[in-house]
Amino acid sequence: MISNQLKILENIILARYTTLNLGGAAKYFCTCSTVDELKEALQFARSKKIRSHILGGGSNTIFADDGFNGLIIKIDLKGVSFVEDGNDIHVTAKAGEEWDHFVKQNVEQGFAGVECLSGIPGSVGASPIQNVGAYGQEVKETIEQVKVLDRTTLQEKVLQNGDCGFSYRQSIFKTDDANKFIIVEAIFRLKKNGRPTIHYPEVKKNIEASIPLSTLGDGRESLEAVRNIVLGLRKKKSMAIDPSDVNTRSAGSFFLNPIVDEKQLAKIIHQWEANGDGTPIPTFASESKIKIPAAWLIEKSGFKKGYSKNGVGISENHTLALVNRSGTTKALLALAKDIQDGVGKQFGIRLAMEPVIVS
Ligand SMILES: Cc1cc2nc3c(=O)[nH]c(=O)nc-3n(C[C@H](O)[C@H](O)[C@H](O)COP(=O)(O)OP(=O)(O)OC[C@H]3O[C@@H](n4cnc5c(N)ncnc54)[C@H](O)[C@@H]3O)c2cc1C
Repeated sequence: MISNQLKILENIILARYTTLNLGGAAKYFCTCSTVDELKEALQFARSKKIRSHILGGGSNTIFADDGFNGLIIKIDLKGVSFVEDGNDIHVTAKAGEEWDHFVKQNVEQGFAGVECLSGIPGSVGASPIQNVGAYGQEVKETIEQVKVLDRTTLQEKVLQNGDCGFSYRQSIFKTDDANKFIIVEAIFRLKKNGRPTIHYPEVKKNIEASIPLSTLGDGRESLEAVRNIVLGLRKKKSMAIDPSDVNTRSAGSFFLNPIVDEKQLAKIIHQWEANGDGTPIPTFASESKIKIPAAWLIEKSGFKKGYSKNGVGISENHTLALVNRSGTTKALLALAKDIQDGVGKQFGIRLAMEPVIVS
């Protein structure tokens, strides 16, 4: 222990703080449950002239095998509060709240807006970082404000939704202002006694199998029905953490779905028509552009579910999830590169990685 106030530990193995279960030791490690502790941690790193890295639930983080030669700051700020506002409810959640617990709490009270995001691992504080999304919802639709601590000035600041630059798995926290802020809380605007979002075909199909959509009511019961369907789909795809299922030892989707314009798509189609098996490339509208499912591109480049190499591989239940069976970060990143190179050769595009790599 180095500091008297904040407990700063030394030489802490990071693997157990990530869902991939990978990573060597951090030189220093602390857990902060207040903003004052965060400031103290940042000052400690400054005084030692070392880097600091913010860690939530570790479900989108890849630490190097040789660890991190700085201070890992684990976020543990807790608390959720509710303020009614007509038909809406403002829900303020501290950054260290577990995301799925937060979703469950809201669903149980009949508050709509995050039900399709059930089962996503990690913390509330990380949810704005990549604008988490699944099954037809993204947090950008319900986040009103994000309260941050500036890592340099140590001043707190409130960012409005429009300041956060949200788009598909992106925000200013990953781009222009990467590593500038620590998110200390997020405020969501949800609908009281609200109606669940049922846009996603798999969710719609499953709901319709048990109840005609026209008779689906508002509020808790319907929101719980959607939550349960999403949790079931996630379980089937090993996309909800389950210690007994090695396929969940992942960082979720490892690659982003490429978003291209008409000209890029034409080039990709041209290359596929020359080299491919004749099946059409699936595409989806994404605002003014076109989204291509990365999973399809990976499979058509010869990488199948269950593929395994050097203790790492592709989940048996989801092509987009790379899993750690008994491997290393080095092996995982080598596999990611093999896949990127394979897709590049087959389609002429480079897949971007989703998780944050910390070395
Ligand atoms: C099985 C599985 C399924 C998944 N499914 C989905 C999915 O459907 N949709 C989706 O979008 N994602 C999904 N993910 C990815 C992941 O769960 C989300 O990105 C999640 O929001 C990460 O939260 P975390 O707290 O674990 O973040 P971490 O991995 O701890 O951190 C991720 C990044 O956020 C930063 N960060 C974390 N907390 C803060 C903070 N308070 N302030 C500033 N920076 C911070 C970290 O520095 C890092 O850069 C999945 C992951 C797994 C393992």
